[in-house]
Amino acid sequence: MRILLIEDEPKIASFVCQGLRAAGMTVDPIEDGLAGLNAVLQAQHDLLVLDIMLPQLDGFELLRKARSAGITLPVIVLSAKTDLADRLQGFDLGADDYLAKPFFIEELIARIRSLLGRNASQNEDVFSLAGITLNRLTRRADWEDRSAVLSQREFMLLDYLMRSPGYIFSRKQILQHVWNFNFDPQTNVVDVCVQRIKKKLVSTDNSTSMFPIESIRGVGYRINLKGLA
Ligand code: CA
Repeated sequence: MRILLIEDEPKIASFVCQGLRAAGMTVDPIEDGLAGLNAVLQAQHDLLVLDIMLPQLDGFELLRKARSAGITLPVIVLSAKTDLADRLQGFDLGADDYLAKPFFIEELIARIRSLLGRNASQNEDVFSLAGITLNRLTRRADWEDRSAVLSQREFMLLDYLMRSPGYIFSRKQILQHVWNFNFDPQTNVVDVCVQRIKKKLVSTDNSTSMFPIESIRGVGYRINLKGLA
């Protein structure tokens, strides 16, 4: 994987470079927007990690020019600006994902893997991650020595988490995606569904704490990245 990083703050750039290299990725860092745009136009990278506030040319303008030049590479925007308007502007101009500073390097790595994997294995009928194998045709899930056919909701929930490993989904996001609820029904339907998945896939003599769905207290759930390193 060859990643282009356009970021002018040396501390952040070196932290990101170090982290991505440790994860086995090749990183080319660039410090200003104009040089960054030139690198993007050469189309030699698999993914772009892009800061917004940059000298010469800001990230939004860079992205707009790149997209209008027909560049389709996936882009993750990094920015200290966390308000919704900026977030929407980023997506409007063709960002694929958005990460607010400060962030954990593990989360950036997870999102890069998720974006780069999306076009390959993640849309196939059989998909494996963190030791879990999902069959989208039969709704069968396997983990260790267990195998079970999941209900529609159970399957959608697990599939949803597995598409962005490491990313913490709130109960609200899960309710919206799996149940199509745009409101909080004030029930523990998400937790019950997670418990049912675990019950089906974890044998009684095995601890459920080993199962890669991790509960984040007060927030939601994610696929634990431990098994992904
Ligand atoms: Ca900056």
